[in-house]
Amino acid sequence: MRFFLFKFLLILSGCTCFASLFHTVKKNETLSLIASKYGVSTSALQAYNNISNPNLLFVGKKLKIPDKGIKEIPYTVQKGDSLGGIASRFGVKLSDIANLNNISRPDLIKVGQKIKVPLKSGTYRKASLLPSSTLSALSSIRPTYGKWKKIILHHSATPVDDALNMHRVHKARGMKNGLAYHFVISNGSRKAYDGEIYIGPRWKSQLDGGHVKKLSLNKTSIGICLIGNFELRAPTAKQLNALEGLCEYLMARCRIEKSQITTHKIIHPGHTACPGKFMSLPAILKRLDP
Ligand SMILES: [Zn+2]
Repeated sequence: MRFFLFKFLLILSGCTCFASLFHTVKKNETLSLIASKYGVSTSALQAYNNISNPNLLFVGKKLKIPDKGIKEIPYTVQKGDSLGGIASRFGVKLSDIANLNNISRPDLIKVGQKIKVPLKSGTYRKASLLPSSTLSALSSIRPTYGKWKKIILHHSATPVDDALNMHRVHKARGMKNGLAYHFVISNGSRKAYDGEIYIGPRWKSQLDGGHVKKLSLNKTSIGICLIGNFELRAPTAKQLNALEGLCEYLMARCRIEKSQITTHKIIHPGHTACPGKFMSLPAILKRLDP
C-alpha cells in the first residue's frame, strides 16, 4: 500500500526519472551483492548513488537502482577526482566524457560539478571494490619492479584485534620492522571499520614480509592478514570484498598471476591451520578476474 502511495506521489510531483526502483540496504549486504541482485554493474550503482566509499554502506540506506538499459549515469565530481580518473574508474574514454559534457578543458573540472558518464556495454570494465581513499593511498606507493611473485593469505586467529596493536606485538616479539604482513583487513573490531584495509609500513617501504618461515618466500610474497579466527567463523562479507579488491589491485599492479595466490597452510602444511577452515581459497579465487 505504501509503495503505491509513493508511486502516486512520484507521478503527482511530475518526476520523469526511471529510478522507480529502490533498495534498502540490509545487514551484511555489499554494493556488489546488491548490484548483482538487480543485474546492474557495481560502478553504475555506486555512481548513481554518489557513493565514494562502498565499504561505508550503512544498513537502512536507500539506494536508487539504475535501469538496466541505462546509457549514461549522472556523476558529481568529488574531491581528488580527475576526468581521467573518472574515465578509468568506469572503463570509458576520457574523450567520450569530455564530448558528452562539452568539456574543452578536462583539467578545469570542479568539485561538486555534475557530469554525465557515458556507458557503453562491452567497453565496460569492472569497477574496483576499493574505496577511492584506499586506491589513492595505494597508487602513491610504487611496488619494487619484479619483486612480488605471490600473495599469501593469513588470519589473525584472534576475533578482536587491530593492525596497530599487531604492529606493537610483532615489534615486541623482536621483529625490527614490526607488523609482519604488508596488509591487514579489519573485521570492524576495535578502531577500524569492517573491511578497512590497513597498509603496513612494510608495503610502504617495499620491505620483505615476516609472515612465513622461509626467508626466500618472505622476500617475494605479499602477506595479507584478515582479522578474525576463521577456524571458528567465516570472514565478514566486507572483508571478502576488500580482499577481492586488494588482490585484483595487486595482481594488476605487480603482474601476479591468480595461480600465485595461496594460503599460509598450503605453503606450510602440517605446521599451521592459518587462515582457518572457514576461509575458502577456491571461493576467493572464483571471485577474482582471470
Ligand atoms: Zn598465517
